[in-house]
Amino acid sequence: MPDKDYYEILGVPKNASMDEIKKAYRKLAMQYHPDRNKSPDAEQKFKEINEAYAVLSDPEKRKAYDTMGYSSFHQKYTDEDIFRGFDFSSIFEEMGFNIDDFAFSAFDEDFFPFASKRRKKEQIDIYLQAYLDFETAIKGGKKVIEYNRLVKCDSCNGSGAEKGSKIITCQTCNGRGYVKTTKRMGFFMMSSTSVCQTCNGSGQIPEKACKACNGKGKVAKHESVQLEIPPGVENNQHLVINGKGNYSSQRDTYGKLLIEFIVSEHKKFKRIEDNIYSVEYVPFTLFMIGGKHTVETLWGKAQIEIPPNTKPGKRIVIKNHGIRKSLFNSTDHVVEIYPKFPDNIKESEKKVLQELHKKLFGD
Ligand SMILES: [Zn+2]
Ligand SMILES: [Zn+2]
Repeated sequence: MPDKDYYEILGVPKNASMDEIKKAYRKLAMQYHPDRNKSPDAEQKFKEINEAYAVLSDPEKRKAYDTMGYSSFHQKYTDEDIFRGFDFSSIFEEMGFNIDDFAFSAFDEDFFPFASKRRKKEQIDIYLQAYLDFETAIKGGKKVIEYNRLVKCDSCNGSGAEKGSKIITCQTCNGRGYVKTTKRMGFFMMSSTSVCQTCNGSGQIPEKACKACNGKGKVAKHESVQLEIPPGVENNQHLVINGKGNYSSQRDTYGKLLIEFIVSEHKKFKRIEDNIYSVEYVPFTLFMIGGKHTVETLWGKAQIEIPPNTKPGKRIVIKNHGIRKSLFNSTDHVVEIYPKFPDNIKESEKKVLQELHKKLFGD
């Protein structure tokens, strides 16, 4: 087995904090989950990411890996050791996912063999990505999203039975309500149980199915939801909306809708933590003599004051021109300034500069 660099896999520096590691892992896990990423190497990559995270998120294992290196570490720890006691579900729940949700195929429990089993009444069963332009993400605003979901069938009121039909035992699961499947995942053999698709977990089906919904008790519906985007939404941030998921005839409730925001990049501005950054080119003379200069911010033009004898790369803070979360909670815009030189200079200007050069630097 060739050596793997867990830091490289997660794309973090060797001295990365727990937070950075967690952040990097979340991002990659979302990107490479085989149910979402259909490229041929996604599954392999996803496993590597999980392995790297299992090691680096455990202070003891991380220390061992740092001191021993990959091969010695793997002599000491088996793959099972690496994943033992590792609770994937907590991190996915923090992300807003409940990995015990069978209906939510993007986070199939097959991939989380050691996850603790907990079931919740309402489930996240629809996952959507919503694209936000940079400015809306920073300033907030409205966004309409459209998607399809399953709603309660009106004809049978969700029962799936034609009027007056008898209820019989489901043949697919013999009335158990679930089916068992076994799947091989690299070094794991994993069996999982999933809700029976025929009876939706109830173990019983109507003898005569409702014609409107084919006995499912639910029908597809196109929905549009208007979202209120709060100021300062980050890339990959999640929003969970209760009751906007699919209808479950078993529980007679609606699941949760989970929306992940994908924030586009801006050609001029960049977000770092909660501040906004930009680079501006300022007449080179101002670096020496100082003066005022007007720059662009997300909130319009703003004036910066450049002190005399300023060095290129200096950062100047424009207060309250970053993210305005509320009247009392706003961040800054930081401008990094570099000198701008004229494209062409006239003979007369050249003379002045030559004189100045002589004065400042001698010959
Ligand atoms: Zn129906
Ligand atoms: Zn069944």
